[in-house]
Amino acid sequence: MQSLDDIAACVAGYDPNALPVAQAQEFIGRLVPRVQAVESLALRSALGRVLARDIVSPIQVPSHDNSAMDGYALRAADMAADGDTLIGVAGTALAGAQFRGRVGPGQGVHIMTGAVMPDGLDTVVPQEFTRAAPDGRICIPAGTVSAGDNRRLAGEDLARGEVALTAGRTITPADLGLLASLGQAEIPVFRRLRVAFFSTGDELRSIGEPLDAGCVYDSNRYTLWGMLQRLGVELIDMGVVRDDPAALREAFTQAAASADAVITSGGVSVGEADHTKQVMRDLGEVLFWKIAMRPGRPMAIGRLHPAGQARPAMLFGLPGNPVAVMVTFYAFVRDALLAMGGATVQPLPLLRAVSTEALRKKPGRTEYQRGIVSQGDDGRWQVQITGAQGSGILRSMSQANGMVVLHHAQGHVAAGDLVDVVPFNGLV
Ligand code: AMP
Ligand code: MG
Repeated sequence: MQSLDDIAACVAGYDPNALPVAQAQEFIGRLVPRVQAVESLALRSALGRVLARDIVSPIQVPSHDNSAMDGYALRAADMAADGDTLIGVAGTALAGAQFRGRVGPGQGVHIMTGAVMPDGLDTVVPQEFTRAAPDGRICIPAGTVSAGDNRRLAGEDLARGEVALTAGRTITPADLGLLASLGQAEIPVFRRLRVAFFSTGDELRSIGEPLDAGCVYDSNRYTLWGMLQRLGVELIDMGVVRDDPAALREAFTQAAASADAVITSGGVSVGEADHTKQVMRDLGEVLFWKIAMRPGRPMAIGRLHPAGQARPAMLFGLPGNPVAVMVTFYAFVRDALLAMGGATVQPLPLLRAVSTEALRKKPGRTEYQRGIVSQGDDGRWQVQITGAQGSGILRSMSQANGMVVLHHAQGHVAAGDLVDVVPFNGLV
């Protein structure tokens, strides 16, 4: 296992006191381990889980050449070079009921969608292009079809031995269908990641408790719960832990023992007088970063490895401010947890939208502003910032349907400029 210093040495331009978002992401990508344990699930239960092995097709899909239309199967060679073609009908082929007779020269077969192509026939004329000739044959007007039309080839979806799905993908509804088409009943997936989380701060009260003077309800545990739930991890909610060394030590030790990753909020900022940082330091290998971003500057990252425990747990010590928690989660924790769970992580798709207003932005840090994306009268995507952007104003996040990402080197934005937006749809 590489030490945190070794990892830092691999990240070009690493500076813990002014760490660009991209460098922090690279560091975390190198730090996090991948789950190894694999379990086998019944097909439907595998939805949303991460595939642990490549799935190789044991069969051809489809297994035979078959018709893509209801119509008449024939030999392209029998079609008149110019002028109508007349064919006799040797019989009928239905999906699931193959035509096994002989098809003579100048003959075709009435065929339904999905039916196996009779031997020697290679082209299908859709029913609606044909008419019955007075002698009972079928007339196909010139130019209706070309050789090979409306025929699906054996193996055109998947060839035998071809990789149908690659390990690391998160199984979608389409994948369930694909796996079913291969006859796979049991699917190998990585075990679910276990994530423990708690809030720190003496000013925090839990729902149901009286709100004493100077106190706030703990909201971070709820946003975290929601975001983690969407990631499909197993959750261990450890409540609010008061700012007391023994209580913190107990909570971190228990969290590290029961989970692959521990997420906390609060207590990691520079001026913090509380004990959270010291206990983190005592129980593992932890760095305290100042990230060049807004919101969400302070963050603790590392491994918790309490004495007597076989393996370390990852630690993500997020800032306390409610918006900062969400932004740092999306910027760093989301991808890290997906990677830990064995997934091949795809970058979040960004939407380009017109900013309806001028935005002040200092180069040298990444800013995440909350915005409402809509379609303008001209059909283009536009984004409007949701009012005050203080890192404690959770309403700005709740009203938004996306985050405007103002990149590290970017400066002020003029009204009408295009900006990048991470849409929340499918994310939160
Ligand atoms: P800290 O990072 O601990 O200095 O906290 C920064 C700000 O976020 C303070 O105003 C805290 O009261 C607030 N805060 C910290 N934790 C939470 C929480 N779990 N829920 C709501 N607000 C919080
Ligand atoms: Mg605090």
